[in-house]
Amino acid sequence: MSAMIDSSIGMRRSSLEELEDKALQLIRERGDEGIYQHELWKMLGLDSREGSRLALRLLKKGLIVREPTVHNGRRTYKLFLAKQVKKKPKISIRIGNAIEVPCFTCRNLDKCHNGGFYDPSTCPILASWINGKIRTIKQLMAEQ
Ligand code: SF4
Repeated sequence: MSAMIDSSIGMRRSSLEELEDKALQLIRERGDEGIYQHELWKMLGLDSREGSRLALRLLKKGLIVREPTVHNGRRTYKLFLAKQVKKKPKISIRIGNAIEVPCFTCRNLDKCHNGGFYDPSTCPILASWINGKIRTIKQLMAEQ
């Protein structure tokens, strides 16, 4: 009995996954244009209740996004494939320190670039500021 229930659940799960795959394929094919959710239900042969459940599952898994819109005077949603966003590393900068960098107040900042007349790799103002910071850090370390 238990084996029958398990196999029935397994079959339902695999057909659900197939349905999700088909839905994702159809949404993917629309690209940036997206697809109206009722259009997708029709293509998959689902009624609105089944279709809404499918969309919610895909939303919960983070595979799609939906945007509210109006189609033929009715409020509905457009579905899009979720972009796989790479997690950006968090960079923490204390503005108190960054504001001391001479480049922030330099009148040549917009003309300054590697290989240019004003070049950060050869700039005496920047080098002097960095050397000053290094001296301060060395002194602090020596005092500890
Ligand atoms: S590197 Fe030198 S020239 Fe370039 S913006 Fe900074 S201070 Fe100015």
